[in-house]
Amino acid sequence: MREISSDFLLNMQTATSLQPDETFRENFYFTRELPDNLQFLDALSQNFYWSWKPVGARLFRELDSQLWEQCEQNPRLLLKKISGLRLWQKAGDEKYVSELQSFAEQFKDYVAAKPDVFGQITERNPVAYFCAEYGVHNSLPIYSGGLGILAGDHLKSASDMKVPLVAVGLLYRYGYFRQKIAHDGWQTENYLDSFANELALAPVLNEAGERILVKIHIRGREVFARAWLAQVGRISLYLLDTNVRENNEIDRLITGHLYGGDTETRIVQEKILGIGGVRLLRQLKINPSVYHLNEGHSAFLTLELAREFLQENADSSFSEAIAAVRKQCVFTTHTPVSAGNDTFPPEQIEDCFDANFIHALKISKEDLFALGRTNDRDVREWFGMTPLALRMARSANGVSEKHGEVSRELWLKMFPEKTRAADVPITHITNGVHAPTWIAPAFQRLYETYVGADWAEITKDATAWSAAIEVIPDREIWNAHRFLKQLLIAYIREKTYSKETGLHETINEHEDTGKLFSPDVLTIGFARRVAGYKRWNLILSDLERLLKMVGDADKPVQFVFAGKAHPQDRNAKALLQKLMSFDENSEWQRRAVFIEDYDQEVARYLVQGVDVWLNVPRRPLEASGTSGQKVAMNGGLNLSILDGWWIEGFNGENGFSIGAAEDADETDEATIDAQDAESLYEVLETEVIPTYYRKKENDLPGEWIQLMKNSLATLTHQFSSDRMVKDYIEKIYLVRP
Ligand SMILES: *Cc1c(COP(=O)(O)O)cnc(C)c1O
Repeated sequence: MREISSDFLLNMQTATSLQPDETFRENFYFTRELPDNLQFLDALSQNFYWSWKPVGARLFRELDSQLWEQCEQNPRLLLKKISGLRLWQKAGDEKYVSELQSFAEQFKDYVAAKPDVFGQITERNPVAYFCAEYGVHNSLPIYSGGLGILAGDHLKSASDMKVPLVAVGLLYRYGYFRQKIAHDGWQTENYLDSFANELALAPVLNEAGERILVKIHIRGREVFARAWLAQVGRISLYLLDTNVRENNEIDRLITGHLYGGDTETRIVQEKILGIGGVRLLRQLKINPSVYHLNEGHSAFLTLELAREFLQENADSSFSEAIAAVRKQCVFTTHTPVSAGNDTFPPEQIEDCFDANFIHALKISKEDLFALGRTNDRDVREWFGMTPLALRMARSANGVSEKHGEVSRELWLKMFPEKTRAADVPITHITNGVHAPTWIAPAFQRLYETYVGADWAEITKDATAWSAAIEVIPDREIWNAHRFLKQLLIAYIREKTYSKETGLHETINEHEDTGKLFSPDVLTIGFARRVAGYKRWNLILSDLERLLKMVGDADKPVQFVFAGKAHPQDRNAKALLQKLMSFDENSEWQRRAVFIEDYDQEVARYLVQGVDVWLNVPRRPLEASGTSGQKVAMNGGLNLSILDGWWIEGFNGENGFSIGAAEDADETDEATIDAQDAESLYEVLETEVIPTYYRKKENDLPGEWIQLMKNSLATLTHQFSSDRMVKDYIEKIYLVRP
């Protein structure tokens, strides 16, 4: 990994300094000589299976724990950089070698298992899952946030459940921006260049052993994309990449940045994903039984399917093609926020789709534009990916019950024959998270001891699971949680320390860092994008009251924040700056921290270590939210506005709610914000803080631990991605209207 600034990148768009990659076959696989008894590390590093097994991560970390952190938990890089001496020392470590061997056996059994059959979904006719980003693990940096993490968790559950599924995405060479906070509190951004041979990727070859290339007509010329394979347990994730020598310099950057470019870059990326993705599957001779459009970014794939249909059925019309395509496609919408629903000016659609393609669809340019409009006759309307997907898919769903309802209202305008939102054909499947990825090893061990080796199975039986949680001794739950909190504090101190030494070093600051945060203090986490509807400003709305809570002598509170602001959003950056520096001399400096560069690794420490997870979105804009689900599975308590998943999750005894449950008559945002802020402070002062600090004779906060148990008992399975994938199979993939 090489660090480069975004300015440099901009210059590169015009310069001709990209490295050609013609020699991939000769030098793609670095040859690192591993001692015989450690050979398996190579295979292990090529499949993300290790990342959701506590032993897997430990086996890499133990090779060289410092280097492991330097390599940002990337096993490919670790194996490239580790010293020969260290490798041979580990080869002589009998305990290590035998653990590696038993993990090797477990891995081989896992990947050797054949996929199951789910109705018409079979190995020959799998689900084809399309998404613009995947958050499988930090060492594959092609995600920005919630959507990507959700897609990664979907693949992992599909793998564990032996669902025949292949996934398609894009390999962004520079990924998503990395966040740094300058000393004045201002966010800066930079991008890292990643090299395919340092990632767990294999080139996708055809039967003749040659690199597969797909060809897509864009910008008035043929553009080529090659493919890489990332192995996620049993699931193959194919990633398209335009950085090939057949393309000119500009086209090589199409798959450069995730959400980094203008709308023109975005549209060509989406064309590569949707149309290139279908062409790739054809070259791989994969014939999906269903295409899952996870968010509208991939919706152009429906046009490619229509083109194929018309090529094979020369006498058919475009409307017959639509009918055929609809049978094969299902669509998930992920947000009611307009910035999350891509639209493009018609000229860009025209530039992007050449006349031949439109001709092959047997429609006019105007007909094509109309496919992306909510009102197909409104010629001023831009082309939206969500309307296209809604027209071309047999099923559409939101990602929580509330979001289903909100989506029906939002898209009612596309169904002029319907008078009531309730009749709009959009359902919901509530999001979930992959338990083995997100539940801390300390809690997994606790479950193994008190519930049994098959605890993951038992979670599915609500009665048995809740009985099992109830018998875990309070002290054990509390100790496991306290350990994770201490781990989080150590992580915070280390990050803060290394940041300060890199900037301006004073002895006092180092000492302060050592005192930063206490495991005895109620710790509240707040990590999410700095977007308007997430309402970061709600917390800061009454500074006096906030500082009083933080600085209280008996019952103090500490806050840990993380989250990225959009690079062009100066208001969001100003908000971060205020948060970072508002009250230089108060307890705030010791009891509130901001962790830079929120990503999957930061998220893991946070969701596993905090006491309380705060979420204050403006209703009803939080489609689901998943970070609170991760917290719930680790014994943390949610303190949240009743929106998204929390409406379904909260039962009055498994966490805390802020504000009203019903939609207010009030429509003025400022008034609603003020009411919610008041409710937030009040719930903190009268419920959260007193309950946390109320100790019983045994010196344990008994009431709090009961809430933790209620949360673990009621939320673990309901918000797991195993439940979610099962729902997708039964309610979406297998249902033909
Ligand atoms: C889980 C996760 C998210 C999604 O969380 P929200 O609750 O939707 O904010 C975003 N980013 C990272 C890094 C995550 O791990």
